[in-house]
Amino acid sequence: MARYNGPVCRFCRREGVKLFLKGARCLSAKCAIDRRAYPPGEHGQSRAKASEYGLQLREKQKVKRIYGILERQFRKTFKVASRKKGNTGQSLLSALEMRLDSVVYHIGWGASRNESRMLVTHGHVLVNGKKVNIPSFSCRVNDTITLSSSMQQNEKVSANFRDAEIRGVVSPWLEVDKNSFKAIVKDIPQRDAINIHIAENLVVELYSR
Ligand code: SF4
Repeated sequence: MARYNGPVCRFCRREGVKLFLKGARCLSAKCAIDRRAYPPGEHGQSRAKASEYGLQLREKQKVKRIYGILERQFRKTFKVASRKKGNTGQSLLSALEMRLDSVVYHIGWGASRNESRMLVTHGHVLVNGKKVNIPSFSCRVNDTITLSSSMQQNEKVSANFRDAEIRGVVSPWLEVDKNSFKAIVKDIPQRDAINIHIAENLVVELYSR
């Protein structure tokens, strides 16, 4: 699956908020948006007021960038979410949170969703005892997620795990067993348990045009 590999701090500057794409750096004084709180580019400091469409578009871009996915896959996820009963925006966010790379991020093994994604693609994550190396794999309630034994000794992963609470990624819908590097998905994440500042209704409005 295609993915963006370029610099990411410019995304936060473009959206005007921290998207937390670089782990510990996001909480440090090196964070780019703290140093240059205006959009990147030559005319970054002289942008006109956004239209209604512009606001909807920016909100969609923000969601895509937070979860590190490109347009095609995002549209696919939206399509599936829109077919479900209930609030489409909520279903969209729940589906994005239930992606395996995002679940690994919430367990705390990766400092960012990107790092979590690498743990998955490199085959270090098991779902119900079987290796799954597809970041977009959709987890289900009662799935058990385990870290491979080789990675359990990894210092970086241990440090990430230790700092997960400081980074505010620990989620109530996951039951994490710190000693056995295991987590169980206890529930489908509801909106109040999804700690991202997004107006998902704007994304739904955009696609309903
Ligand atoms: Fe965004 Fe993190 Fe870069 Fe700050 S350090 S601009 S929060 S990705």
